[in-house]
Amino acid sequence: MPKAKETVLEIDLKALKHNFEYLKSKLKPNTKILAVVKAFAYGSDAVTIANYLQDLDVDYLAVAYVSEGVALRDAGVTTPILVLHPQAVNFKTLIERCLEPSLYNAKVLNAFIEIATQEYQTNYPVHIKFNTGLNRLGFWENDVDYIISKLKNTSSIKAASLFSHLAASEDLKEKDFTESQIINFKKIAEQFSKSIDYQPILHLTNTSGIINYPEAHLDMVRTGIGLYGFGNSKEENHNLIPIATLKSVISQIHKIEKGETVGYNRAYTSKGYEKTATIPIGHADGISRQYGNGKGYVVINNKKAPIIGNVCMDMIMVNISHIECHEGDEVVVFGKASNASELAQSANTISYEIITAISQRVKRIVLK
Ligand SMILES: *Cc1c(COP(=O)(O)O)cnc(C)c1O
Repeated sequence: MPKAKETVLEIDLKALKHNFEYLKSKLKPNTKILAVVKAFAYGSDAVTIANYLQDLDVDYLAVAYVSEGVALRDAGVTTPILVLHPQAVNFKTLIERCLEPSLYNAKVLNAFIEIATQEYQTNYPVHIKFNTGLNRLGFWENDVDYIISKLKNTSSIKAASLFSHLAASEDLKEKDFTESQIINFKKIAEQFSKSIDYQPILHLTNTSGIINYPEAHLDMVRTGIGLYGFGNSKEENHNLIPIATLKSVISQIHKIEKGETVGYNRAYTSKGYEKTATIPIGHADGISRQYGNGKGYVVINNKKAPIIGNVCMDMIMVNISHIECHEGDEVVVFGKASNASELAQSANTISYEIITAISQRVKRIVLK
């Protein structure tokens, strides 16, 4: 692999394939897979990832917003796309682009029926979302009769699936709560299917649910973070491969005397004769100021170089006093060996946040 000459995010499709197959190996052969590609496929490259997963015969894709689904359709993606959190203002566009809405309360259900009817749709696929304890989005258990009456009253839409979302599937201390969510959802699904003459797809688990709750796989599973190489635990991180590697270069090296300061607000003071390197990546690229002042680090020639002082908009300075290196050398912010999940922990956050934060300014390079 050529060394980085600027800040780049490398995306490894072989790693994606490995993760897809690993997660698939946890499922029964006929369980469907929905791949979550919201937020630029967790900060990587939604079009590339969606097209690749389509070639791997993924059953469904999901995005958060209608605009994300439109971008995939514009790029020629034909797999069914579930929009997890649409707003009524975009329903006409959603229908025009054959995107499938999650309907999570009476207001959006009624708004969607109205627009689907106006647009002369029949049996337009929709996904009914239930709240079973996350208390974020979703109908309540006692809304089933209302939803059924609405569905029976229109031929414009049809429930392609029923789903819910687990609140703490990665946390085995919350097993009792998760099991109550699973039981609750199964009860809702049973009640639903008693009152309607077709069988919607049932889906409940995210990545950690795939791993920890096989009894909850149902007809389909939804996976996001696992595809991108993180399993929300040390053991599972070993079974998965991070697909994204964030690299940069050393722009300049400074040798400073004891007592000199580095960066804005003079936040770092040298404790002796020290060597610093300036790297062209900053908070506008997604390296939050939280990582400054010794919390975060980069890796240069296999050694950790702590970020010193405040993170600037387009730059960080790191301490390389203990590292043999030169201007132009490659820098790894995170990747396969230097894990984003560990770097995230240094600033009290999680893999999800650091990988999705990498801004669109950073060039994406796809390794096939
Ligand atoms: C983002 C999201 C997922 C994916 O969760 P992972 O933990 O990344 O696997 C699944 N379902 C819903 C409803 C989501 O919003």
